[in-house]
Amino acid sequence: MGAFTEAIRQEVRERAKGCCEYCRHQEAFSSDSFAVDHILPRSRGGSDAPENLALACGGCNGRKYNKTESIDPVSGLMTPLFNPREERWDDAFRWSDDFTRIIGITARGRATVSVLQLNRSSLMRLRRVLRSVGKHPPV
Ligand SMILES: [Zn+2]
Repeated sequence: MGAFTEAIRQEVRERAKGCCEYCRHQEAFSSDSFAVDHILPRSRGGSDAPENLALACGGCNGRKYNKTESIDPVSGLMTPLFNPREERWDDAFRWSDDFTRIIGITARGRATVSVLQLNRSSLMRLRRVLRSVGKHPPV
């Protein structure tokens, strides 16, 4: 993670509007700086070009590690993970009615919710608190 220049970090952060591109956690409300995630891991030939990078919170980045696919819990089939450079978040996911849970609405979305655990209890608690003060979901 130390390989990126501050300029690339800043570009990735601004493009993502300061939100994890998977769980939508907001860096402004995080105790830790977010990571620059390689969508296709370097270990699999992924480049450092901005088209292969995404902003990810520590929880999502650690769970994603070098994965590019996982099981869709509905079909049971191996499925590519959500790729924030190829799809819009809103096309793969939606919020539950109370905005505390992320629901995958495509196979890729469901596989990503499952493997990255986008509804971790810590995130759900934070979403509830931020929602109560009008700061969630992020715009
Ligand atoms: Zn995240």
